[in-house]
Amino acid sequence: MTSFGRVAARIDEARLWDRHEALARAGATARGGVDRQALSDEEIAAKRILLGWAGAAGLEAATDPIGNFFLRLPGREPALPPVLTGSHIDSQPTGGKYDGVYGVLAGLEVVEAMRAEGIRPRRTVEIVAWTNEEGSRFAPGMMGSEAFAGVRPLDAILPVADAAGVRVEAELARLFAAFPEMAVRPLGFPVAAYVEAHIEQGPELEAAGRQVGVVTGIQGKKTWKVAVHGEEAHAGTTPRRRRKDALAAAAAMIAAMHGAIVDADDVVRFTVGRIAVEPNAPSVVPATAVFSIDLRHPDGATLDRFGATVERLCADHAGPCTVAVTPLVDAAPLIFPAAMQEIVRTTAERLGLSPMALPSAAGHDARNLHIICPSGMIFVPCAGGISHNEAEATLPADLAAGARVLAEVLVQLAERA
Ligand SMILES: [Zn+2]
Repeated sequence: MTSFGRVAARIDEARLWDRHEALARAGATARGGVDRQALSDEEIAAKRILLGWAGAAGLEAATDPIGNFFLRLPGREPALPPVLTGSHIDSQPTGGKYDGVYGVLAGLEVVEAMRAEGIRPRRTVEIVAWTNEEGSRFAPGMMGSEAFAGVRPLDAILPVADAAGVRVEAELARLFAAFPEMAVRPLGFPVAAYVEAHIEQGPELEAAGRQVGVVTGIQGKKTWKVAVHGEEAHAGTTPRRRRKDALAAAAAMIAAMHGAIVDADDVVRFTVGRIAVEPNAPSVVPATAVFSIDLRHPDGATLDRFGATVERLCADHAGPCTVAVTPLVDAAPLIFPAAMQEIVRTTAERLGLSPMALPSAAGHDARNLHIICPSGMIFVPCAGGISHNEAEATLPADLAAGARVLAEVLVQLAERA
């Protein structure tokens, strides 16, 4: 057994930072961010860079039928299920340099540190870059980890098309053609444990002045599509009492929900982020208004309670219009196993950091791995909590601190029988 802290001491802050900068050149935007959507040329370019580093580090690369990328450091007992770490390298169209990328590059840095220290862990350690976490090009996201964990069958994913009508299946064929030398493994395999490092994408760690977060779980999420139907009418001639104004009804619903879905501790998240009005003409009373609802909370019972108000408030404020409320996503909150939270917390403390426990407000691939193996997450701060934004920023020292925790967590997990 390697003595505690030796691998962490080999984490190279400058190399880890430089690699974020280098990978960000694949899909770099003029405003300093990244546009590297799933299965795009830009993502293929990033994977090529990644493979170059992995090859130099002596790692074995493989992919699978959904295009997940695995970089493997074989253990002393390679027949044992591996310990998996990673995240994703696809981005939103106006994404930052660290969302997802950090989890993959921190994993790579840990393996570099193990090699520098001359360690060959008992279990194989694999770094994974999951396909299409973001879901901006092919919706919904988390395709790679969902297919891997058996949450969604491959057959249901391959026909999904982007806005231009290009199917996942065609883009995967392009990906495999770009890396003809890579082994394609069957989809899914037993995993001993999964640890995902990620920037927080929220403001809590920075506000508390902490470098490392122990992620307790992932908050639950419900989404709906609400369609309000009224009647087109002349804006000049139609008196109010004769109108069936779909937008006025939608506005009343949205205002009522914003008023009702609140809590004293400011934990619930309620968002109407999209609205489409027909015919969307200045002098026509709107005939239809279709809007989205995104509701999140870390507690299942509370999420259900707020969720139950959505349909009622929409019905109550429909006025002369009709309303149809269609549930879309219903993802329950999850709590990572106590043992996984504990190993992250104690490891961070032993490294002299003062970790802070917090739930993840955003979704991550760890949600799907949680179904098939003990899973956990490590957060590091990001400036102002800003993410899914080209201005996303972090500090090299914080990325390195999280990687040190990841290193010692993986060393422990990979030595377990
Ligand atoms: Zn992410």
